[in-house]
Amino acid sequence: MIALSLTEIAAIVGGQQHDIPDGTATVTGPVVIDSREVRPGGLFAALPGERTDGHDHAGQAVADGAVAVLASRPVGVPAIVVDDVVTALGALARAVVERLGTTVVALTGSAGKTSTKDLIAQLAGHAGPTVWTPGSLNNEIGLPLTALRADADTRQLVLEMGARGLGHIRYLTDITPPRIGVVLNVGTAHVGEFGGREQIARAKGELVEALPAAADGGVAVLNADDPLVRAMSGRTKARTVLFGEAPDAQVRAEHVRLDAAGRPSFTLHTPTGCAEVTLRLYGEHHVSNALAAAAVAHELGLSAQETATALSAAGQLSRWRMEVTERADGVTIVNDAYNANPESMRAALRTLAAMGGAAAERGGRTWAVLGQMAELGEESLAEHDAVGRLAVRLNVSKLVAVGGREAAWLRMGAYNEGSWGEESVHVSDAQAAVDLLRSELRPGDVVLVKASRSVGLERVAQELLDAV
Ligand code: ATP
Ligand code: MG
Repeated sequence: MIALSLTEIAAIVGGQQHDIPDGTATVTGPVVIDSREVRPGGLFAALPGERTDGHDHAGQAVADGAVAVLASRPVGVPAIVVDDVVTALGALARAVVERLGTTVVALTGSAGKTSTKDLIAQLAGHAGPTVWTPGSLNNEIGLPLTALRADADTRQLVLEMGARGLGHIRYLTDITPPRIGVVLNVGTAHVGEFGGREQIARAKGELVEALPAAADGGVAVLNADDPLVRAMSGRTKARTVLFGEAPDAQVRAEHVRLDAAGRPSFTLHTPTGCAEVTLRLYGEHHVSNALAAAAVAHELGLSAQETATALSAAGQLSRWRMEVTERADGVTIVNDAYNANPESMRAALRTLAAMGGAAAERGGRTWAVLGQMAELGEESLAEHDAVGRLAVRLNVSKLVAVGGREAAWLRMGAYNEGSWGEESVHVSDAQAAVDLLRSELRPGDVVLVKASRSVGLERVAQELLDAV
């Protein structure tokens, strides 16, 4: 962050100073919402939490070195009091980013935001110091906190933007106006809340509407292979750069193939030339993510060769996304338990299927241990049924559906598609899945573990890894 006095901060956020002996005291950062992360020179933003109210930790935060607290009421220690702390965080981030003049790269999409953000961050690092969203902190709180970590050296801010409704992305782009905006895909994540894919496209398109005109450097990086995303070029004044496998994409992949472990290779084409890429990430869907990142890298001045080299070296920065680990006994666990929606389920199942050949050569089988995909509204039954059926069509060896009603739908889909008997089972919870797998797994087996965040299936992956 840049150094700001308490009086400057109060003016920016339109707040009142309370219990502040000296308004010239400066905040140098970090700005945090968890009092345990307070550091000397920092600012503690007090938010009402699910379990505890941040205001109750104000005293501790100041004792630990926070210069002051951003709060919605006086707290007996130095505080800037505002009507709404979240709005104030946004205003502060906006002012800081404006003063720094940092290039903001923003991205959104239904699936792959965090993976792609991590790739972009690693590529952008070659063009200068970069600050990026940690994990998936892509909402009205996480975004300003990330932006406030930028300092005078920061050349690029790479920000993941999430939307659960119309106006959400617009709110985020108002805080950190992007120069480069990336839209990955429009799927069915949160379709229940949105009310249809067209609505999702409208919401995600707010990102490209917020970009500056081409003459002012605005660039919309759009997925050429997703018609709803491609059509967004009509909603922006920015220059459009298309990525994908479509022949007219300026940043393109050719000769896409997967190795036996499920890692994609391809020839990357950018306006500066072509070069070979082998990703360290698993699953064909990462080709699209890598192309989006390559398009951003091109805009930041990297050559095709530099981009290919950096992409081939890029690893996972965020956890539980297709984390592949082979146990000592030769069982491979693919932990994709971070989250799930229909698109990512299909992508993960295809990756598992691609790993099946190598597994079979070692006498192993492929297991899909799947749980509920949340927030699908009326489409929930059909989507779970379809995933169950896809597991059969892809020749996955075994399906273990974990949880309640939705898991039963997954299993029914598989059963009806293939008249499966013991190839698919339904178990009630994570512990039952662990017990079953512990007794069944044998060397060479590959186990995919995936469900929506709320199911907490990472426990299954972890216990299976700890089991040997
Ligand atoms: P969230 O909305 O939960 O923050 P996200 O958009 O950030 O999700 P990731 O965390 O990168 O997405 O990936 C979530 C899941 O989607 C993972 O299972 C991942 O393997 C899968 N996935 C990643 N990229 C794609 C893609 N381009 N198409 C389909 N699935 C994808
Ligand atoms: Mg994410």
